[in-house]
Order: sequence, then structure tokens, then C-alpha cells
Amino acid sequence: MNKDDIKALLAKYDYPVPRYTSFPTAVQFKPVQDAGTYFDCLSTLTPGEPVSLYVHIPFCHSLCHYCGCHTKIVHSYSPIASYIDTLIKEIELVSRNLKSVQGVSRIHFGGGSPNYAKTQDIKRILDTLGRYFDLSSAQIDMECDPRLLNDAKISDYAALGLSRISLGIQDFDAGVQKAINRIQPFDMVKKQIEALHCNSIHNINFDLIIGLPEQTLETVNETLDKVLELQPARVAVFPYAHVPWMKKHQKLLEKYEMPETVLRYEMAKLTETRLKNAGYETIGIDHFARPDDSLVRALKNGNMRRNFQGYTDDPARTILGFGLSSISQFEGAYTQNTTDAPLYRKTVDNGEVPLARVLTLTQDDQDRRQLIEELMCNFTVNFKNYKNIPVPHSALALLEQDGLIEIIGSRLQVTQSGKPFVRIIASHFDPYFKKESNRHAKAV
Ligand code: SF4
Repeated sequence: MNKDDIKALLAKYDYPVPRYTSFPTAVQFKPVQDAGTYFDCLSTLTPGEPVSLYVHIPFCHSLCHYCGCHTKIVHSYSPIASYIDTLIKEIELVSRNLKSVQGVSRIHFGGGSPNYAKTQDIKRILDTLGRYFDLSSAQIDMECDPRLLNDAKISDYAALGLSRISLGIQDFDAGVQKAINRIQPFDMVKKQIEALHCNSIHNINFDLIIGLPEQTLETVNETLDKVLELQPARVAVFPYAHVPWMKKHQKLLEKYEMPETVLRYEMAKLTETRLKNAGYETIGIDHFARPDDSLVRALKNGNMRRNFQGYTDDPARTILGFGLSSISQFEGAYTQNTTDAPLYRKTVDNGEVPLARVLTLTQDDQDRRQLIEELMCNFTVNFKNYKNIPVPHSALALLEQDGLIEIIGSRLQVTQSGKPFVRIIASHFDPYFKKESNRHAKAV
């Protein structure tokens, strides 16, 4: 495909679509007053079946101007300590209602910057979870801000059993880091990687962002040189989502030159080529992993999944989310905690679950969830396995004309040129999706 063809495709298909880390997406969740729904969901768990636990710690020490997360900037520890007291109460409140001791496949600390919390508080959370769940097989992961990581924390994390650390790198270029208000020199990160390996934490993920202000193909190339020098096990490359109508601080970036769509596409292609040439395997739309990483094994064995954290080899179908704004996923429902911090604390202090929004899934939702997940993970689906979902033939014919997919019998196969547009392809199976919506980031 030549540059003009790519430009034409981008002009036609680069419109806002969900990331499909869940289906239906969180915008479909409905407000709820009665926390009973949450306990009904808990009662559907199969006794002993491993679940995944998500723990949200929504604090950071400095605001990155591209940030799209639920987080609060604090400069003293007391709000974090007080939040963790409430979080522990919430875990106890929920866990006392479990019918049996569930196994746990994964504990994921997300945020915010979970490593802003003191190790003793992370330990308190893990100890509390350990009183109610069987953590003997749990893999513990944490998202970390490199600016808040040091040798002492790394050795503490190793002692607590953390085995995967995701570092928010974004870009190593000094000019880009200044523009996004996130200064973290390469040498600092390099020392941390050495310390992580010294403490036997070899599962290291890097998150990079494409489409940031001041980024050029040259800066991306130089960032990739540095990434490859450090050899992380996984690299996730996310497109910057500019949504200033939802995240007002992102307007601060508008004074800089931002890469336009075709340049972003070229940056993404450059990243893919460099990582592939260095031996990384491509995983779905935005992940790369070394061949010895468990995500590559999961992809090859056909059991890779996609959930709120992106692509995963976590086999659990249920995720219990704890903390402000956290989402829980059940076979037949999604639930979400309140995003209102004072209300979160007041509700938990009153001995109630801080539930705010719920979506009960119909059988059709569950079938479509599986189809969309399969498409996002494997770039192919066989409609024979989804007999109750009508095939949108005329929409697919247009995608096929544009070379994004091929229909071979009952199978839809995303082509090589269609892969960057797989979210657009998935949206044709999403009856809730409205093209005009400005709730999502652009497709590429
Ligand atoms: S560290 Fe992450 S969560 Fe915190 S402000 Fe920066 S981007 Fe947002």
C-alpha cells in the first residue's frame, strides 16, 4: 500500500472509536443507588474459581499534561494514608460477603502512581487480601512511576512477591518530556532496570506513547534506541488520546506542535518495525513482547485475553476492582465504584459498598463481548461460532473493498493493512456505538 492509499484510509477511518478493553464500554454503565446488585454479582462466583483483583491507588506527585487517568495530585502523604485506610475497609466489606475462599490469579496495582504509596501500606493491602483470598498462586503486578522508584522500594517489592513492574516511560526525549511535564532521564530509568533485575524482577513492561507534542520520527527513533538498550520484556505503545473536553489540562499541550494523523501512523509503523527487527513479537494492536514472555505463549496457545489493563494472559474471567472509580467485571455484569472521593470514603465508613454504576449484560452483550475480544486479540473471527449475531454484510463489504478485511467463507480475517483499524472493524459489531460520539479517542 502506497502513501496516498494510507492517507486516503486514514482520512476515511481515523474517527473516534472505543479501545474495546471492555464490551459494552464503560460509557454504557448506568447509575445505581442500591449496592445489592454488587452482592448479587458476587454470589455468582464459582466457589474456589480464581479471580483477578485490581487495586486502584489514584494519587500522583505531579500532573503529566497528557494524563487521561482518574488521579489526584498530592504533595503530602496523609491523603494517601487515609485513602488506603478506606480501601482496606472496602476490601474487608466486600470480602466478608464471599461465599468461599476464591483463588487469585493476578493482583494488579494501578493508578495514578501506586508506587507513591509507602511499602508498608502496600503490605497492609496485600495482608488484608490474604486474609480473605487464597493468594498462593497470585502473580502481583504494579504500575510504577520511575520518578518515585528507588532501590529500597524495589527490594521491598521483591520481598512482597511482586513479579511484574510496568514503567510509564512515554518518551525518552528531553524536549518531549519537558512539553508533557514528565522529566525522567534515561540514566535514572537504566539504574532502576538494573536494580529490578538484581532483585530478580525480570518481567518489566514499558509503556510508550505515540502522538505527543514535540515528537518527531527522529525522537521516536532515538527513544526506541534507548528502549532496546534496556530490553524490557514487554512494550505497550499507546496512541495519545487528546480529549480536552474531558481532561481540561490537556489544553496545555495545544501550544506545541502535535503530530498529525499521517505522522502518528508513520511513528507507529517505525516503532513496530524497530521492535520486530529486534526480535519482539507483535501482540494485538499495541503490544510487543520478547519471545520468552508469557504473553507470546498465551497468544500462540490461543488463550490471550483483553481486559481493562489491555492484553493479558490472565485466565480469570472475573475481576474484582477495589478503590475509587475501580471497575469489576463479572460473567454477566460490570460494576463501577464511585469516582467521587468524599462519597467513596463516606459510603465505606457507613459500611456500604461504594457502588455507583452498573451494567447487566444480556446474552447478546456477552456473545458480542466474546466476538469483539477475539477480533481484538486474533484479528479473525468465525461467524459460525456466533450464530446469534447478525453479520453486518453491507458494512463489511465496504471494509473489504478498502482492503481492511477479507471474508473467506464464514471467517472474517483482518488484513495486514486493516490491523491499525481493527477498532473500527470491531465497532461494526457494537450496537451501542455512535460515530458522532466525542467520548472516545481517534482510531489511529
Ligand atoms: S503518572 Fe500517570 S496517572 Fe499520574 S499524572 Fe502522570 S499520566 Fe496521570
